[in-house]
Amino acid sequence: MPKPTIGLEVHVQLRTDSKMFCACPMEFGAEPNTRVCPVCLALPGSLPVLNRVALESTIALGLALHCHITPFSQFHRKNYFYPDLPKGYQISQYDLPLASDGYLTLPKESIAASFKKVGIIRVHMEEDTAKSIHGASLAHNVGYALLDFNRSGVPLLEVVSAPDLESPEEASAYLVELRAILRTLGISSGNMEEGALRCDVNISLDRGTRAEVKNLNSFRAVRKALEYEFQRQCERVERGEAVLLETRHWDEAKGVTIPGRSKEEAEDYRYFPEPDLLPLEIDVRWVEQVHRSLPELPEGRRERLASLGLHPSEAITLAHNPELACFFDGALEVGAPPKETANWLLGEVQRILHAGGKSLEETPLTPVRLAELLRLIQQGVISSKGGKALLEVMLTSDRPPAELVEALGLAQVSDPVQIRLWVQEAIAANPKQSEQYRQGKEALLAFFAGQVMKKSFGNANPELLDRILKEELQATA
Ligand code: ZN
Ligand code: MN
Repeated sequence: MPKPTIGLEVHVQLRTDSKMFCACPMEFGAEPNTRVCPVCLALPGSLPVLNRVALESTIALGLALHCHITPFSQFHRKNYFYPDLPKGYQISQYDLPLASDGYLTLPKESIAASFKKVGIIRVHMEEDTAKSIHGASLAHNVGYALLDFNRSGVPLLEVVSAPDLESPEEASAYLVELRAILRTLGISSGNMEEGALRCDVNISLDRGTRAEVKNLNSFRAVRKALEYEFQRQCERVERGEAVLLETRHWDEAKGVTIPGRSKEEAEDYRYFPEPDLLPLEIDVRWVEQVHRSLPELPEGRRERLASLGLHPSEAITLAHNPELACFFDGALEVGAPPKETANWLLGEVQRILHAGGKSLEETPLTPVRLAELLRLIQQGVISSKGGKALLEVMLTSDRPPAELVEALGLAQVSDPVQIRLWVQEAIAANPKQSEQYRQGKEALLAFFAGQVMKKSFGNANPELLDRILKEELQATA
């Protein structure tokens, strides 16, 4: 069986206030062609000016990916003709990418092969093109294309991995990890459905000739296209045919890749230095300063969370969701126990949010409130079942938890005298069952516990109830 060799080329849209080479504001979903100026419309005589924040974001990503940051770089023109690129070239980087020779670590639990370093060949800066929207006019029986220049000049990073990935699952895990790094750095939304993350894949068998599949815009598409392409190449080899060096496209509806143009080589683009932009000299002190201000990254965060006793899968989930991880840390800061916090945050909280189609930020729940809830359970004020009912309300009400316990009548009854009274009533009301229990039908314990819970409106302390119930049932014997 041949082995697939996979490399990923990912285009990342940065989340800066303005575009890469002009001051036009960035806004996803704005009315078409309202965020434009002479520079991003490519009007003659306009001159680009580099966005400093975009440059700093690139340095940050390069450092997060353990890359070398070049002290000297330059922009090049990548020449090609396409209606969404009126300049006739894209400003990009060629032989001097800003960052190179790094790696990304795949988490241990997400793939069978476990722990793996994937090489990062380069990270370079470029600009996005306008967006073409294809349609057809039934009235005039013609196809047409509309162009939206709001996207023209949006800062893009191209992240090129080494061909170190060996399965569609690994490719997927790589993308998830890269997205987590981008979100943790806060430099991109990483949303594939909004086009903020777009993926081209290269795949070959046993490091032979590769085919490229362009513009995959969902995790599912990446996995499916790779699975299909692996199968297709295997079949060609079996028939004694060569795999061609070509660019293919993913047909989502049919679930197949279809051949596009034969692949261009670099010389087809006639790269030459961009004369309108000065070469870049990156001050090493600036790089050091960016390095010092990097947040805790997913890799380190996973290790720290695992060392707190969290299950690896919990550590991975939190490390991949920076907002959740901050929430978690916030609860720990006010004394919440790590394991229970992770348990509630990733279990019950997510379940309720998911059912209501809401995100955590849309609710009044805060880390401090969650910590209070856990304290109420720990102190026995409410049962863990009562805690779930309380949480449900806390996700819509901003009244303090202790007040809600009162208002909802959730306080757990831990008074042994009261519980014994309920137990005695339950036994007296069910003489037949209590007789059967004494004859050895121990399963009836649950029946009696249920009767008492009903009397207590679900608030009897379960451990106390269990102990007293056993005592009383023995005693009646
Ligand atoms: Zn502009
Ligand atoms: Mn590119």
